[in-house]
Amino acid sequence: MENNSILSQIGNTPLVRLKQASDLTGCNIYGKAEYFNPGESIKDRAALFIVKDAINRKLIAKGGTVVEGTAGNTGIGLAIVCKEYELNLKIVIPKTQSIEKKKTLKDLGAELIEVDAVPYSDPKNYIKLSQKISENLKKNEKKGVFWANQFDNLVNTEAHIKTTAQEIWAQTAGKIDAFTCSVGTGGTLSGVSVGLKEKNKNIKIALSDPMGSSLYSYIKENKLSSTGNSITEGIGTGRITKNFEKALIDEAFQTTDTEALNLVYDLIEKQKIILGGSSGINIAGAIKLGKKMGPGKTIVTILCDNGKRYASKIFNKEFLKSKNLPIPKWL
Ligand code: PMP
Repeated sequence: MENNSILSQIGNTPLVRLKQASDLTGCNIYGKAEYFNPGESIKDRAALFIVKDAINRKLIAKGGTVVEGTAGNTGIGLAIVCKEYELNLKIVIPKTQSIEKKKTLKDLGAELIEVDAVPYSDPKNYIKLSQKISENLKKNEKKGVFWANQFDNLVNTEAHIKTTAQEIWAQTAGKIDAFTCSVGTGGTLSGVSVGLKEKNKNIKIALSDPMGSSLYSYIKENKLSSTGNSITEGIGTGRITKNFEKALIDEAFQTTDTEALNLVYDLIEKQKIILGGSSGINIAGAIKLGKKMGPGKTIVTILCDNGKRYASKIFNKEFLKSKNLPIPKWL
């Protein structure tokens, strides 16, 4: 691929030292700044690998259609990748996701199908609907229809074994003690855990889970159950995906939206970095892990996407008030 292709700009993101989190723990806590990707999120990596794999396996070619169920970020990554490979894109998205993500998807030329947010067990769940839509489309489409299936397509995990994990290892010069992040599909946590433990099996891996997700109890008590809820988007789940199955997890932490948002707002003040809610969950997990492991450790987490993507929510006083969440003093 030519060097000036937008696709060559996916990955190789900076690793940023998080001052406040490091000071609180006596550790060196770093965030992988995934908002530097062209689609401004961690999900560009999975989108690129999944589409490239489908093209290599001749499941789709120029003029064909990619279909996917997504909370938005994978869709935005796919929109960029599909444009580059001259593929059409059909996205099924829960109505509850931020208007900013939906507008970006439309601006990038994706066709959007907005559906009610219902659990995975419901046949009308957005992921299941995306599979059904792709199967129906296949009957009439000659140039190929491909369901990306980010939750259970293991190429997602592979993207993070081959890129994110290698970059973290190189950027810390192999002096990393632990890694933590939250889970949507599980691709990031699985891929980074496998990639890092291949380098050094003693690197500790922790899940950072929001409220309302069942994965924390799955790791702690081996049962899927959840309490509370979260306004964070793209993370937390009630089922074990094929990607999550591959994750090598030693520890788990659960974090409330209040804790996460306070960290997001603090980072704006201290380091002028504007992040979405899932990054707050991740940084909270890294702090909890740092406190548990003790001072002097090097811990890495993921800064998943840009806070502007949720301006109508986490930078909207009325929204925050209605959810009883902290309001940054400058709003
Ligand atoms: N944060 C955000 C904002 C996301 O959109 C996603 C993906 N849905 C994640 C975190 C989690 O990434 P993964 O799918 O690799 O578990």
